[in-house]
Amino acid sequence: MSTDLIGLAARRVVLLDGAMGTELMARGLPQGACPEAWNAERPEVVREIHAAYFAAGSDAVSTNSFGGNRIKLAAHGLEGRADEFNAAAARLARASAPAGKFVAGSMGPTGKFLKPQGEFTEDEFEAAYAEQAAALAGGGADVLLVETQYDLREALCAVRGARRATSLPVLATMTFNAVPRGYFTLMGDPVARCLQELRREGAAAVGANCTLNSEQMAGLVAVMRSETALPLVAQANAGKPVLGPDGAVTYSQGLEDYVRFVPDIVRGGANLVGGCCGTNPAFIQAMAESLFRSRK
Ligand SMILES: [Zn+2]
Repeated sequence: MSTDLIGLAARRVVLLDGAMGTELMARGLPQGACPEAWNAERPEVVREIHAAYFAAGSDAVSTNSFGGNRIKLAAHGLEGRADEFNAAAARLARASAPAGKFVAGSMGPTGKFLKPQGEFTEDEFEAAYAEQAAALAGGGADVLLVETQYDLREALCAVRGARRATSLPVLATMTFNAVPRGYFTLMGDPVARCLQELRREGAAAVGANCTLNSEQMAGLVAVMRSETALPLVAQANAGKPVLGPDGAVTYSQGLEDYVRFVPDIVRGGANLVGGCCGTNPAFIQAMAESLFRSRK
């Protein structure tokens, strides 16, 4: 019986979902608007996107709360609605989830930096993430997904905040750049240190998302697998964003090329796979066909 997501990931590959932000924009969210506000203002749109991912084969979807911590919401003057937006995000995903499917509470970065590069203290980051985690748990999330973190210190604040505020399993993904010396976060944190310290902080699963395309992600997954025994999460971008003449952003890696490397990501040791920027329900459906063909 699969009663929890981590337990399921121990038995077979778990399929996550793809991008949320670009799906909201495709349905009319203006450039620069606060995506989390749509949990309150356009809940039917958020539910429709979750439903499309479940229909495509996702075992779990991520809530529309990537930028839902109060430090990030302050950029829109909406920090006072953090609790409301996150609780609504989790409720909408829960309401869209068929029986036996899962809801991951998305917790993206603050967009700010810790001292000395920035103005914030670790306590302030941890408190903002704890508040978000509590609201996501209250709304019905099964796990928390700390994701797209580019600073290990911030990621650790997020995991600490989530574990302080809830008893849910915390999955944590960093975003790495590929350089000749290996893979490093924006702040220069190497893979091994990230995975070790996230584990020490109590993460139930670790991994990487965003920035890299699916071919590059397959290379990174093999490196991560050599550094940890924890379940691994991998969510690659569909290549790089390309700004069109009309101002619309597309992504450089097409669906077929993206999906071609998904078996390599799994062979490399990923246990939970999904998409990131530029992916959509069609990508997830193609991944499901690629991953689970033999089971049908
Ligand atoms: Zn991304």
